[in-house]
Amino acid sequence: MKYKFEFFAPWSPKTSCAAMVEVSSYSFMVETEGHETVEIPFERARITRGGFDSLSTVIESVSENGEKYYLQTGDERFIDFLATSGNPAIRKTASSLKFQGQKKRFSSTVSSVSVVVIFLALIYFLFSGMDYLVEKSLSHIPVSLENKLGEITISEFIKGHKQITSGPVFDGVSHIWKRVLSGVKDSPFEYKLYLVDVPVMNAMAAPGGHVVVFTGLLHKIENPEELAGILAHEIQHAHKRHGTKSILKSAGIGILFSLVFGDLGGLEILFRDFGAKLSELSYSRENEREADSGAVEMLMNARIDPMKFPAFFKRLAKDESIIQKKISIFFTHPPSEERETIITKLATKGEKPEYKPFEMNWKEFVQDVKRKTASPED
Ligand SMILES: [Zn+2]
Repeated sequence: MKYKFEFFAPWSPKTSCAAMVEVSSYSFMVETEGHETVEIPFERARITRGGFDSLSTVIESVSENGEKYYLQTGDERFIDFLATSGNPAIRKTASSLKFQGQKKRFSSTVSSVSVVVIFLALIYFLFSGMDYLVEKSLSHIPVSLENKLGEITISEFIKGHKQITSGPVFDGVSHIWKRVLSGVKDSPFEYKLYLVDVPVMNAMAAPGGHVVVFTGLLHKIENPEELAGILAHEIQHAHKRHGTKSILKSAGIGILFSLVFGDLGGLEILFRDFGAKLSELSYSRENEREADSGAVEMLMNARIDPMKFPAFFKRLAKDESIIQKKISIFFTHPPSEERETIITKLATKGEKPEYKPFEMNWKEFVQDVKRKTASPED
């Protein structure tokens, strides 16, 4: 049996050539590619493990004339063969090298496993660690700064829209807004309402307590409690900093790391850029649930009946024309039955306060909305 080796001969010690090695009873017989033959007697051979991974088998020898030979093979069958040699010294060396090789192979498997583990941990970090980074970054943004950043986002968003800041429609919405806010307990934010004359059925919260209502929404609500519920829900998104978290999440790891280290420099651009995408902002199911439960609590504090609020979504869900029109609020807030169940559960839990109706002329408000603002149906 011949085994393939890499051979460094004394006549060319820097470059190797291929050689075949055969084992006789007393020596290794080496035959190079160029058909030169060298015989290395066992007693002149030192057999060790070597090579870059320390897993190859190495034969070194110095001849009587002081010439150095070096041979190396990765063929493990060579060691297996030597372990059955008739020469006890060779047999012993071979068995110990075999054991050494197994140990080495095991530990290199362990280390490649640990490389995989580290890699998976890194991927895990990128996904779940992202949430940690977002939370950590958020803790570096004081509420006052978040409020200013939200102002930047909102002014960027409002740029292209007509804002309504006075008149009967504004007054009606403001009246409901103020009642809802009376249910807020201990919030660091100063909430601000923006009414934009856009025939889209939507309402949304920008970071820092800024809530936008589109006039299109007003055409679809049937009582002030419905609007109150929607406003309370949006206020809760702002209160729980959901929008800010979403923006930070979209920012990428680099910005988050600099935020964690207290560098707030990139925030202004980040929040300005988000202005254009504000109406696409949608939240996780968990965020929606949080906003709903906070809203119910707020409404009850303000003595507004929370049970009238899910009816709005229920009605929307039945209206196929609305689904076809892809109304924003419908798509960013799924009108699921689950939602209604949760709201009902929360609203009927514990002591029910005495609800107080809104002191406004609802019919007149509806007339003003129809007359003064564009309808989503137009
Ligand atoms: Zn929501």
